[in-house]
Amino acid sequence: MNYSELAPSYIRAIAPYQPGKPISELERELGITNIVKLASNENPLGASPKAVAAARAALDEISLYPDGNGFALKAALVARYGVEHNQLVLGNGSNDLLELAARAFLTVGDRAVYSDHAFAVYPLAIQAVGATGISVAAIDFGHDLELMRQAAVEQGAKMIFIANPNNPTGTYLTGESLRAFLHALPSNILVVLDEAYNEYLPVECRYDSVSWLSEFPNLLISRTFSKAYGLASLRVGYALGHPQVIDMLGRVRQPFNVNSMAQAAAVAALDDKEFVQRTFELNLQGMKQITEGLREMELDYIPSFGNFVSFYMVNAARIYRRLLELGVIVRPVSNYGMPDYLRVSIGLDTQNQKFLSALKQILGEAV
Ligand SMILES: *Cc1c(COP(=O)(O)O)cnc(C)c1O
Repeated sequence: MNYSELAPSYIRAIAPYQPGKPISELERELGITNIVKLASNENPLGASPKAVAAARAALDEISLYPDGNGFALKAALVARYGVEHNQLVLGNGSNDLLELAARAFLTVGDRAVYSDHAFAVYPLAIQAVGATGISVAAIDFGHDLELMRQAAVEQGAKMIFIANPNNPTGTYLTGESLRAFLHALPSNILVVLDEAYNEYLPVECRYDSVSWLSEFPNLLISRTFSKAYGLASLRVGYALGHPQVIDMLGRVRQPFNVNSMAQAAAVAALDDKEFVQRTFELNLQGMKQITEGLREMELDYIPSFGNFVSFYMVNAARIYRRLLELGVIVRPVSNYGMPDYLRVSIGLDTQNQKFLSALKQILGEAV
């Protein structure tokens, strides 16, 4: 028999997430070394040494289950944001929280809205619970909030996913536009505001979404330790929201969804503001380096507020493969409806240089 037919049709219809190619895989495939991976928006500085030390220390207790309530990490977040414990839930990466939101509030027949070119996990999370995703046309690759609101209201959607900044486009919505959107939206539609790249926003673009929670009980904010904090492998994120919303997410999460190394490292990482600042500054420099390099090659890119940038390339798929041969891993984004773009993460100066040189070499080659 065909066992896939035992799965519901909406599960069979899922197109799996396509991660960035791991360095070890490219090493095996091409037998090359000195590979630069600029494909998953990871922190090129690694993680805070204090976070690494905390994770190491936690290894001594791996025979014990982690604290299922994440007391220490929640306490650190409560202190940071001035919220109550019951406004916080931890996740196995913020990916977990996006799925928990879908699982807690959506079922077969329900609808949820997101933007074209938005983070690929939204349609996955929606489809996995048998709900229907509605993708709304973007403006200049960014979210069209007014169109998203209209679509949600007209189609009776229960939930809207917003990424700010968005991955893979790097586009950004101002705090004012988000607030105006929340004001205009009926309060029975939940808004999941995914702020995975929040720490990378330039100072003049920052806004305090956490302070809006008292005004908008239908707002759920997700953040992560994977990006600026450099803890991608440990899998830890958090969501802030109304206690009743948080309670529902808590009911469908695994009791021990965040491991002890991740919890300990996140507490230390949150405290190391100097590391986050260094990360931010390095990213600014690297973004300048890469965008200037792209301009020199006369390549168009989408101005980005994250730690990555998507650029336009004729024959993007071929250029991607050629970059691999030269030891540079970037990310194809054809699955985001952007077949003519490649996304490159901002790395260290030398990594950015290697990427730019490789691209320049490829552009100079006869096809
Ligand atoms: C990377 C990313 C996440 C989640 O990453 P986790 O490692 O699961 O925390 C969420 N949203 C966006 C837009 C991202 O790019």
